[in-house]
Formats: sequence, structure tokens, C-alpha cells
Amino acid sequence: MATQRTLCIIKPDAVEKGATGQILDRIQREGFRVLGLRQLRLSRRQAEGFYAVHRERPFFDELCTFMSRGPVVVAALERDNAVEHWRRVIGATDPAKAEAGTIRKQFGASVGENAVHGSDSEENGRIECAYFFAGVDLIG
Ligand code: ATP
Ligand code: MG
Repeated sequence: MATQRTLCIIKPDAVEKGATGQILDRIQREGFRVLGLRQLRLSRRQAEGFYAVHRERPFFDELCTFMSRGPVVVAALERDNAVEHWRRVIGATDPAKAEAGTIRKQFGASVGENAVHGSDSEENGRIECAYFFAGVDLIG
């Protein structure tokens, strides 16, 4: 399996709960290399840009309000099969449907407030890491 990059966002609900450390610990136990790590508060415009693919969806406004309500932690991650592996570790979008042992099962509250983000394809993994990190900031 090829080495890939994926973007993790620890969303505002998980940062508010004080779950950042436990999620970073899980990332390391899953064998990801952390290439870049930042805490920031997304502006409304940054949230809208990041989730632009969902702009026609009924939950878009709620999603952008949520994502910009407090600090997030973004992490550019690398490992073999990173995209699929991270999606498996975070679990289904709706925490109620997420498998036991997944991060969304552990920390997610609802389909909207679901603790973490993961890129959905190799191409988006690269694009999303570049959205938050300049090349020079990534430790390869
Ligand atoms: P993410 O892209 O954040 O990793 P995902 O890929 O599992 O999540 P998407 O379909 O890309 O799910 O939706 C993006 C985000 O929009 C979800 O993580 C969730 O926060 C929010 N969302 C999705 N569906 C709903 C919904 N029905 N109601 C409210 N919020 C939703
Ligand atoms: Mg998605």
C-alpha cells in the first residue's frame, strides 16, 4: 500500500470537551506520522471554503456555524493507506451508527457534532493538507 496523506481536524466540540490529547494519542498509536499540527479558530469564510462541496446541502449553514464557533486542531497525517485507515478509525458520520472503538463513537454527540474530520480520497487528502499547511511547514 502506498504512503498517503490525510487531514484530521479535531472539531470544536472535541476541543471543548478536552479530548484533543486523547485523539492525538490515538493518531500516534495508529502509526500515523504527524507532518504538521496547528490549533486555530476557523473564520466563517474558511469553514465555508473548506466544506464548499456541501454548499447546496441543507445542513451547510449549521455546519459552518459549528466549525467556526471555537478552536480546532488540524493535523496533516501520513502513513500507508492513510485515507482509508483514518476513516476507519474515526467511524461513521453519525456517531450513533459508528462502530465501537471509533473516535466518533467515543466523542461524537450527533451527526453534526461528530468530533473529527477525515479526508475522503487521496486527492482530497493532499488538497486539504495544503489548505492548512504551506509545503515548508510539513515535516516529510
Ligand atoms: P467530514 O467531512 O467532516 O470528515 P464525513 O465525510 O463523515 O465528515 P460529510 O458527508 O463529508 O461527512 O459531511 C461533512 C460534515 O457535515 C459532517 O461531518 C457533519 O459534521 C456535517 N453533516 C453531515 N450530514 C449532516 C446532517 N444531516 N445534519 C447536520 N450536519 C451534517
Ligand atoms: Mg467528508
